[in-house]
Amino acid sequence: MANDNQDFLKEMEALRLDFHKRLVTELEQLVEYREKNDSQLVDLNTIKELYGASHKLAGSALTFGYKDTGILLRSFENYLDQALCGGNQIDPGEMRSRLLELAPAVSLPVTNSSQVEDARKPASEPAEELHRSEDIRIFILEDDPSTSEMLKLGLSSFGYIVSTFTSISALCDRALVNPPDGLIFDKTESSFIGNELDSVTKTLREHGLSDIPVIVISPNDDFDEKLLAARNQVASFLAKPVNIPALESSLDYLLQQNLRSPYRVLLVDDDAYTLEHHRLMLERWGIVARTLVNPEKTLEVIEEFHPDLLIFDLHMPLCTGIELAEVVRYHTQLVHIPIIFLSSERNESRQLLAMMTGGDDFIVKPVAEDSFVTTIKSRAQRARKLAELMTRDSLTGLLKHTEIKERLSHEFARAQRNKALVSVAMIDIDLFKKVNDTYGHQTGDVVISTLAHLLRRGLRTTDLVGRYGGEEYMVVLPDTDSANAITKLDSLRTEFEKIVFRHKNDEFTCSFSGGVCSSDLGSNVDDFIEQADRALYSAKEQGRNLIIAAK
Ligand code: GH3
Ligand code: MG
Ligand code: MG
Repeated sequence: MANDNQDFLKEMEALRLDFHKRLVTELEQLVEYREKNDSQLVDLNTIKELYGASHKLAGSALTFGYKDTGILLRSFENYLDQALCGGNQIDPGEMRSRLLELAPAVSLPVTNSSQVEDARKPASEPAEELHRSEDIRIFILEDDPSTSEMLKLGLSSFGYIVSTFTSISALCDRALVNPPDGLIFDKTESSFIGNELDSVTKTLREHGLSDIPVIVISPNDDFDEKLLAARNQVASFLAKPVNIPALESSLDYLLQQNLRSPYRVLLVDDDAYTLEHHRLMLERWGIVARTLVNPEKTLEVIEEFHPDLLIFDLHMPLCTGIELAEVVRYHTQLVHIPIIFLSSERNESRQLLAMMTGGDDFIVKPVAEDSFVTTIKSRAQRARKLAELMTRDSLTGLLKHTEIKERLSHEFARAQRNKALVSVAMIDIDLFKKVNDTYGHQTGDVVISTLAHLLRRGLRTTDLVGRYGGEEYMVVLPDTDSANAITKLDSLRTEFEKIVFRHKNDEFTCSFSGGVCSSDLGSNVDDFIEQADRALYSAKEQGRNLIIAAK
């Protein structure tokens, strides 16, 4: 961290020195406008040029701590704004003297930027990386043995280490020796909330363990019950019946697993210096930031970079941030991405307008690092949750049918462009109807989510897994030929057939079949999928529990 901080300060310092040179050059260019003749000086195009230049420079001067120059430029900008919007006549003489006012700023010294001073003493340290889900320990308080077993089995299949307890005292004793990462309270009949929950949270608090998130699964879904939960600092409240993936998703959210892959932010601003300044600030806090000077490329970059959040400058030469937000909002698949406008615009009605046209927040430059990063992190966290709900299947957490198909098309096109290969596999659980008929739908669901988890964990992070249908999955393996795809899926197949599922006193195992096709065999995406499907069909015909390649 100390080294990171030093690197950050060094980079900031270099950026600021660089900006200083630019500020001097651009101020000189502004002052030189005095040389124009009267009619040229008050020409509408000249005023627009001067307005654009002073607005941009004012914003970055303030960002880099050149307060006096920033204020001077801002006042010049307002003077021009009144002429542009209010139709005030500009007097060439006054214009010249206003330009002259900017002249002393040309010889200004390099400032000690207040921004960099701020950066030296962040109010709190950037968050530590959270551990992987495999190391996460969950305690469950549950008085019904079969529910307890079902919860344990389900959460274990998502990689959690689960311990179950039937008494509060046993749970507290263990928690004090070896604190878990999360607690789940479930009671079959009456509510836990009240004395019992109160006594556990009190015990944990007394031992400094109050930050362990508590999830309550309650048979009562009424307001009073939720209010009691809130008063007992319960982090998440789930009403019965609860399915495992919903519980897992809630745990995942609370334990901020999603921090494992850093938030991604796309910054669009016409000022490269401001962009770089903000990028460094965000990256210091573990946020991956991509910068873009040309708003025209925004949609392309979104598609390729997959940002969690967009930050648009309000005033850019090609278009305004508001217009850019409108363009982005035409794409319904992007509606969940929050847009924050960042501008030195202080005019309230314009802020309001910005908020009303697809923007979610408005931050005024210069930004204070702490609040800037906090706003961005909390927005990105909610956006990610929302995106997950939109694109992921609730039972398995895998990509939904349309989403995986879209991603496959994307990968297929990319492979063709790059003369590379992508393989697709269609997977279907064998004789699954029998599982449902014999052990019930709920147990069937556990099998479906277990295979989902196995696929997710067993494949590379660049591979994509979707729930294509009830107990059908689609796996997309970029840069993989058919032979390698078969090897990989075959090893997952043998892993899956060894998993022992339980239902009451019965034990059973399952298997799956798969058909694989690589992109060189398909003329278009639909054909590509159909060939994988046909290969799956022959695997079923040849006796199941097999992976077959399309020919
Ligand atoms: P095959 O080996 O030929 O695939 O035989 P199968 O029994 O698996 O046949 P099929 O794939 O046609 O059966 C799919 C069954 O999966 C039918 C449907 O009731 C069940 N199913 C679909 N979605 C779900 C679900 O979300 N949960 C559960 N428990 N069952 C589901
Ligand atoms: Mg099947
Ligand atoms: Mg099927």
